[in-house]
Amino acid sequence: MKIDGIRMRGGSAFHKDLRKRVDAWFEAEGVDPYGDGRMWRKSAALIAGFVLMIGGFWLSDGGWAAIVGFGIPLGLFWAGLGFSVMHDGNHSAYARDKRVNRAMGFVLDIIGGSSYLWRHKHNRIHHSHPNIVGVDDDLEAGFFLRMAPGQDWLPMHRMQQWYMWPLYGFIAIKWHLLDDYTQMAQGQINDIPFARPKGRDLAEFVVGKIIFHSWCFIVPALIFGVGTAVAFWLLSAFVCGVMLAVVFQLAHCVEEADFIVPPTDGERIDIDWAELQLATTVDFAPENPLATWYLGGLNFQVVHHLFPRVCHVHYPEMAKIVAATAADHGLKYRCNPTVAGALASHFNWMRRMGLRPGSAPEATPLLSAGEPEPALR
Ligand SMILES: [Zn+2]
Repeated sequence: MKIDGIRMRGGSAFHKDLRKRVDAWFEAEGVDPYGDGRMWRKSAALIAGFVLMIGGFWLSDGGWAAIVGFGIPLGLFWAGLGFSVMHDGNHSAYARDKRVNRAMGFVLDIIGGSSYLWRHKHNRIHHSHPNIVGVDDDLEAGFFLRMAPGQDWLPMHRMQQWYMWPLYGFIAIKWHLLDDYTQMAQGQINDIPFARPKGRDLAEFVVGKIIFHSWCFIVPALIFGVGTAVAFWLLSAFVCGVMLAVVFQLAHCVEEADFIVPPTDGERIDIDWAELQLATTVDFAPENPLATWYLGGLNFQVVHHLFPRVCHVHYPEMAKIVAATAADHGLKYRCNPTVAGALASHFNWMRRMGLRPGSAPEATPLLSAGEPEPALR
């Protein structure tokens, strides 16, 4: 994909050295880059929890206690399947066998997304161009939020660090009702065209939507009526949306991350792919075992961006290699030590982006055409 004003190159000394060290580590450990028993156990636990919450609700009296008691944990299992199962599957990192990856990727279709569209928007657009303003779909929230320099500012953004939290809850709801259908109708994601699915891809899209709408809306509506079914979906999808959005925001939309505004004046900036990933992505809570288990290694998102086809169970060890290699090459490996620290950093970044552009807080160094950060020269 070509982006006006940006020339992406590969093969930096850092990237070559890092690949060599990571390959040597896999060799020394005698493991391959795919998942192992830990992935199967985790997937089984998350799928069981997800199915139990849905089944438990269907067998309940459908009252408010059941909606809340089953709906909140369902939202957490729902997001967990996104973090730890479908993400690795759609990156072909879950297993060596392509059929296993495809099946685990299809979990996304069952839980309300489209694995076909995800592979385009996440693997192709987001992973190749993290934090490049106007290209990275994860920076787009319509006019509601201003996440990066170069985006339009509105007076309401002064309060965005407060209202963004509940707004995040609507991301999954919008995804279930609108995003896949509008993107499919338009044939493009964030103005970048994609080939519409055909044959087996199209069949998976349609079957996935039928399965999702059946368990999410049709069956509960038949048991309890439309109002109860919608209330249960809204609550669980809201919890899921908050989890998904916050985790992705903590990796890219924080004070430690760089953002790139493509120049519009005919200038070009030169970016090394691996150094771009390092500059625009931030790890968090590396010593927190619960976060590492539940988030599918997305708290080690620097490693994920550098090695997206390696299963996340290997990330904690690989992060140490990335940090050491970056230091040896004079590059900055960015990490917030705790979840609380990462949340505070996201809050502070959004507060800064919500101030009128040109006012003091936005004057901190940002990667842009005029001011390339030394690490990316
Ligand atoms: Zn990914």
